Amino acid sequence: MMNYKRSSALFVEAQKVIPGGVNSPVRAFKAVGGDPIFVKEAKGAYLYDEDGNRLIDYINSWGPMILGHAYQPVVDAVVAKAQKGTSFGMPTEIETKIAELAVKMVPGIDKIRFVNSGTEACMSAVRLARGFTGRDKIIKFAGCYHGHSDSFLIQAGSGAVTFGSPNSPGVTQGTAKDTLLAEYNNLEHVKEIFENNKNEIATLIIEPVAGNMGCIPPVPGFLEGLRELCTEHGALLIFDEVMTGFRLAAGGAQELTGVRADIVTFGKVIGGGLPVGAFAAREEIMNYLAPVGPVYQAGTLSGNPLAMAAGLAMLEALDADKEIFTRLSEKTEYLHRGIKEALDAHHITHTINRLGSMISVHFAAEPVVDFKSASNGANDTFKKFFHGLLDEGIYIAPSAYETWFITDALTYQDLDDTITAVAKVAPQLID
Ligand code: PMP
Repeated sequence: MMNYKRSSALFVEAQKVIPGGVNSPVRAFKAVGGDPIFVKEAKGAYLYDEDGNRLIDYINSWGPMILGHAYQPVVDAVVAKAQKGTSFGMPTEIETKIAELAVKMVPGIDKIRFVNSGTEACMSAVRLARGFTGRDKIIKFAGCYHGHSDSFLIQAGSGAVTFGSPNSPGVTQGTAKDTLLAEYNNLEHVKEIFENNKNEIATLIIEPVAGNMGCIPPVPGFLEGLRELCTEHGALLIFDEVMTGFRLAAGGAQELTGVRADIVTFGKVIGGGLPVGAFAAREEIMNYLAPVGPVYQAGTLSGNPLAMAAGLAMLEALDADKEIFTRLSEKTEYLHRGIKEALDAHHITHTINRLGSMISVHFAAEPVVDFKSASNGANDTFKKFFHGLLDEGIYIAPSAYETWFITDALTYQDLDDTITAVAKVAPQLID
């Protein structure tokens, strides 16, 4: 049993000056009970907390640390850049370098603009789509999360649903009425929405592999069908690849699925752990942005040299390693098999969803294909699972509505240790 006394003491202090003691709600343990763990440092696949515990990390900063924490080339690049100034608000050569590399790695994009978070990327992508099409309405899917900008907090996933605010107060009815809600993996539903809103829909935004209601891959034909519907109705298809970009393949979900979006958004991996987001499209669409075109979008710290240095070092490492995505997928598959065997041995009802290096364990009997089926997972079982694993030094997201992110820094010994921990916890999950 691990001791988390210092983390708990730090949490008491944090709560006095920070709402809920955290700067992003998903970090709190509200859904699973207990106090959040305060990190002191991290290296490779491990977190070291303020009490001196070592934890195997399956969150990895919610995705960015695909090569492990404190990955040396990224650290070196940031340190070297910091010596030369941390922000200028003027063009720098490194912005072009990372843009060139991203354009090379991702299919179907000619130009990319860097922002500071996934939220900004998705918010800006939707504005661009609205400006380009001259239409107002957007389609999003229940359980998908695209950041916390107003248009997206309609049946949102991730922390928004974990904390019971999928439709946040503060979002005006005027904004909400332009967001049309569809069911994930239900093409007929999307078709109906398009038919009922002819010539009004600017864009459909989707996580091509959902990761904010646990991991939910698209069923065969779903993304292809969305592509056809968007083309038929003159709407732009936005793939929110904040989670999947540079993770499922060098070219993200577009490469893996073969389906091409009109606009793609990025975050997480593209910043190597620094605050970076980006959105990209073919030239005709991107040239709608200021200062070339009429759609306004800006940022004092956008393209910040430290962030670009981290991002470039990360993308260069991924671009150079032709085996990385296969290796990640194999590790995730190994983990999947081991967890399933351990849970099956104790007849624990569960469903594991996985694609590439995204995986989640749902304590649900039926296949988890959309928000409704994700919500059927037994939350009490998940709480026991989470705390049981934590006691064994395994750190997964403190909510059933999140994906685990596998890092290449994990060794097969780490995976075996995790499977052993699951086997130890499994008997406690029996009602
Ligand atoms: N889109 C997706 C798919 C995400 O998972 C997230 C964050 N988890 C966002 C957008 C928002 O990104 P950020 O937290 O960097 O604003």
